[in-house]
Amino acid sequence: MKHLSEFRDPSLSRSLLARLRTTATRPARIMEVCGTHTMAIFHHGLRSMLPQGVELISGPGCPVCVTSGGDIDAFIKIASRKNVRVAIFGDLLRVPGNNGSLADAAASGAKVELVYSAMDALALAEKYPEELIVFLSVGFETTSPTVAATILAASQTETRNFCVYTSNKTIDPALELLLNDPDLQLDGLLCPGHVATIIGAHAFVPMAQRFKIPCVIGGFEPADIISALLLLLEQVNEGRHEVENGYERAVSWQGNPRARELSAKVFSKGESSWRGLGLLAKSGLTIRDEYSRYDAKERLGITAKEVPEPAGCLCGAILRGQKQPPHCPLFSKGCTPASPIGPCMVSSEGTCAAWHRYGGQQ
Ligand code: SF4
Repeated sequence: MKHLSEFRDPSLSRSLLARLRTTATRPARIMEVCGTHTMAIFHHGLRSMLPQGVELISGPGCPVCVTSGGDIDAFIKIASRKNVRVAIFGDLLRVPGNNGSLADAAASGAKVELVYSAMDALALAEKYPEELIVFLSVGFETTSPTVAATILAASQTETRNFCVYTSNKTIDPALELLLNDPDLQLDGLLCPGHVATIIGAHAFVPMAQRFKIPCVIGGFEPADIISALLLLLEQVNEGRHEVENGYERAVSWQGNPRARELSAKVFSKGESSWRGLGLLAKSGLTIRDEYSRYDAKERLGITAKEVPEPAGCLCGAILRGQKQPPHCPLFSKGCTPASPIGPCMVSSEGTCAAWHRYGGQQ
């Protein structure tokens, strides 16, 4: 197994690119599922180096981008309540809802704290015993075990002034929806390395078989990404549709069963509303009844309502792989990272943010 330093060696990337060019003998549309891949691909200028005919489509793997407008509005409502302090990951701060953003709410006096983990949010409960700390939780399978562990810790310490609003999602139902879209015509999936550390490479086998689509798990260094694309194109050429693990230094075939157990102890699967994809069954995580005292939706009686996309914003179509940021009339004009209209321009993993920051085919 190669070490991280080898994957950072530009000579490895160059030799893999040369192989990629000779392997790309036919057009191929590959979806990079994960927002971290999108950002890494733009950051390293990989799009401009790809052989002609190999097209990368950004997928629905940016957790902030797929959080529904209704959930964003609910976050802002919660933050505006008396004696409530919300704890969030930084990317959520400036996502616009129908009535401003959490940053606007903070400017109007709401108590909003940026945290790096759910455990940081739980620590706030001790620091502010007179307030209810609400952790606004977004993320995929990588994040949910840590949120589950935090809820278990709150239960063990009998912390009463802490709860979680879950908008956590699982990636499979969204991918299945996209793979059923006859207009998308994908030839392969560059599967998310972070999620795969938890669910394991084996979790993609049913999808590869059902949709007859090559699936390769990739890491995030340039050579990781190019070598994953190479494996995908080899499968396309040979008419195979298998799961291959191109990120063996982090991902195992079985993943992390302990993390999955933790998640399953606290959460059950339920429907979840996705920006751009709508309501998807078994795609969200709901806090089990046993831990309902830590469920902010129950505790605060908050229900997210469906809300339309911001006028003119194409985030939904971008998350479905149907449009690219330059198709949006607001891109880099009315909508910029300094003044975002949709979440895809706010998040550090958002496709619009990547296009704006690194430009066009970079
Ligand atoms: Fe939405 Fe802005 Fe992207 Fe257009 S450029 S799709 S308004 S986030």
